[in-house]
Amino acid sequence: MKGRKSLELNVNEDVDKYQLRRLSSISQIAAGIAHEVKNPLTSVRGFLQLLSEKYPDKHFEIAELELDNALSIITNFLSVTKPNLDHESPQEVHVAAEIESTLNLFLDRMYRVTVEKHFSDTEISVYGRKNQIKRAFFNLLKNAFESIPGQGSIRLTHRVQGNEVLVAISDTGVGMDDEMMSLLGTPFLTTKDDGTGMGLPQVYSTIYQHGGRIAVDSKKGQGTTFTVFIPINRQEGGNLNVINLEYEPNQSLFDFMERNEPIFRQRLLSERPELSRVIQEIKDVSGIDLVNNAVTLVNLTLTKRPHELMTFAKKEGELWAKHSLQISLKLEWLQTISRVTWDFLFNYFRLKQEEQSLEDFFQLERNVNMALDSFLNNFAIRYNEFKDEVLRNQREMMEDLSVPIIPLTKTVSILPLIGTIDTFRANTIQDKVFRKIEDLQIETLIVDLSGVSFLDTAVLSHLFRLFDGIDVMGCHTIVTGIRSEIASSLLRMGISLPRTVTKKGNLQQAINLINFSE
Ligand code: ADP
Ligand code: MG
Repeated sequence: MKGRKSLELNVNEDVDKYQLRRLSSISQIAAGIAHEVKNPLTSVRGFLQLLSEKYPDKHFEIAELELDNALSIITNFLSVTKPNLDHESPQEVHVAAEIESTLNLFLDRMYRVTVEKHFSDTEISVYGRKNQIKRAFFNLLKNAFESIPGQGSIRLTHRVQGNEVLVAISDTGVGMDDEMMSLLGTPFLTTKDDGTGMGLPQVYSTIYQHGGRIAVDSKKGQGTTFTVFIPINRQEGGNLNVINLEYEPNQSLFDFMERNEPIFRQRLLSERPELSRVIQEIKDVSGIDLVNNAVTLVNLTLTKRPHELMTFAKKEGELWAKHSLQISLKLEWLQTISRVTWDFLFNYFRLKQEEQSLEDFFQLERNVNMALDSFLNNFAIRYNEFKDEVLRNQREMMEDLSVPIIPLTKTVSILPLIGTIDTFRANTIQDKVFRKIEDLQIETLIVDLSGVSFLDTAVLSHLFRLFDGIDVMGCHTIVTGIRSEIASSLLRMGISLPRTVTKKGNLQQAINLINFSE
């Protein structure tokens, strides 16, 4: 696309990556020099002031003014390129909320520029230096407003994409040509009369330091889109989170959790944003609401109701098995619940502020951990039981299919055997035949062997015993369809079918013996 070019941080396109590395290192070097220059300039300024007091002269004033200018430029420059010097400690940042409040600074321009907001996933946060991030979006918004000479519009997008927060700022302004785009982020680069060229370097270094990236898309005369990606806040097993929660003096832990339940739900989802689709799917197919269940689990834990907790765990284990949901997902979810719960407990004690005995704390720790363990235990037990039941049912169904006893009349049934018969199957056949003879009160059973091509000696003797057993049960056996291979091996081994068994060449001949009028 002519006139469009994308400039990104940390992305696959090598050219862009180098471009940004280069810009970033230019900024770093410049910042280093600025830092070195600032100190002597500051002392020179001090000496000048002393001199001007001793020898009043208007030239000193001019020199001082110039030095002040230079110093303010350097100070500004350092504050954007070396944000670490600000000593701002990282914290949870809700980017959407920060953009919203930054927008208030541009109210005076909104009479000519309409701002369209498409914000979603606003509950998701990133982790970083809040003021730096705010300043970066201020700079991007400022450029967007400044790019629009008369009437126009700015479209703002906020959403989660993968494990990043995506913010796009799209203006209908003057746009840029290729050359300008290839230089973006260079310190002091400006096309504005009163510009400083320090906006974008601040944006780039801030986003870069937060592990993010930036894409730019622009067309001269049409407009520009800056898209910023910042990784989502996920501190793996990391620090305790200070959360803004409601607390009333002397509130019990249970009341505190109940009061802050909506935030608890939100935090569960924002801890694992990539699971939110799976959670919805599970809800759709199985009716299991994982977030509701997490709340129930924590309530049962804190109110110490072990029996209900067990029942609840088993019920969930059964549902989980019934819907063939992945067990690993459950484990991940439990970890998330545990992490968020501990964050809340931490904040409860933080807000409560009064002296807590170490013993109380460890007692609570033990209760919570034991409850979660018990949940997992009972969940897993029921999950396995249920899976076993399903397997057993399936096996029974398979056995039914492999021993098909078909009633022909009230007293006559037929058992066509097909395929290979090994000892295991011979056992199954035996069980099944005995049971059916009893249940159906079979008097004559026709066993058709025409589908069986091979019987080894062990299986043969097994079958013979089966025929004896059938006889003992007062049922008559007719065997049909013994294939020539089997007949000759019987002959070779010098054995013959039990005398009680009637032999017929094929099924038709056996059926002819039956009196269907019964
Ligand atoms: P300044 O705004 O002080 O000029 P910046 O670093 O913020 O410095 O921007 C550098 C230059 O990049 C601007 O002068 C302008 O030419 C160009 N620029 C930045 N953002 C936009 C935009 N949204 N539309 C058009 N040009 C832009
Ligand atoms: Mg600017």
